[in-house]
Amino acid sequence: MIPEPAQYILRFDDLCPTVSYSRWQQFLPLIEKFKLQPILAVVPDNQDRHLQASPPDPDFWIQMRQMELGGAMIALHGYNHRCESRGPSLLGLHHGSEFAGVDESTQREWIHEGLAILRGHGLNPRIWVAPRHGFDLNTLSALRKEGISLLSDGFARVPFTRGGLTWIPQQLSAPVEKSRGLWTICIHPNTAHSSLLNRLPIFLRKHEAQFTSVDRVLDEYSPAELGGMERLYEKFALWRAQASHVRRRKRSRRSHSG
Ligand SMILES: [Zn+2]
Repeated sequence: MIPEPAQYILRFDDLCPTVSYSRWQQFLPLIEKFKLQPILAVVPDNQDRHLQASPPDPDFWIQMRQMELGGAMIALHGYNHRCESRGPSLLGLHHGSEFAGVDESTQREWIHEGLAILRGHGLNPRIWVAPRHGFDLNTLSALRKEGISLLSDGFARVPFTRGGLTWIPQQLSAPVEKSRGLWTICIHPNTAHSSLLNRLPIFLRKHEAQFTSVDRVLDEYSPAELGGMERLYEKFALWRAQASHVRRRKRSRRSHSG
């Protein structure tokens, strides 16, 4: 059953002690005001220089713990976030990723170590968020073996099961009004444009009652394998997303060569 009216989940990516302090802090009052229960995608041991936007915040891990107590769901967002593998991903949106194409035992080691780091900071990571949508069947198997059964990705309009995991779809990178379906809006605080910070409160005010959480979704729906029609929809939506990624890559190659 496709939810109607639409429901929304907010997800924040690339959180680590060096996330852009000024940008990330601007989202916190919104989370509090609208009592949101977002997914917080945390990099356990960041070694990606693109995510080093501010000096390390000594209160970062305390803040994550407080937000988890407040209802946020902590996601394991890769391990080092070094996207050096060129292996094919199930979704095929980016050329490089951290996990897709890496052998299963290494992936499992990284997942095991990543979970241990987050748990060592007093967090309870329950869901997987792949850096650059990059994961493959080995990732799914490694996650299962490490006891993670939830994943935030995919382009269907309903939560579903596949490869032994429950997928909470993630399709949007900015607030967009939808008539029906479950939509996860993914925000990257490091690169969030000021126009997003202007639009988000307006969208939240208008659709406050439609914001939900992963736990509520799991309570209210019984995710199952996708039926034929929704699988077709998913294929089409994924194809559109792949085409727009190709356009974006071409644009950025042109601007870099200029
Ligand atoms: Zn990331």
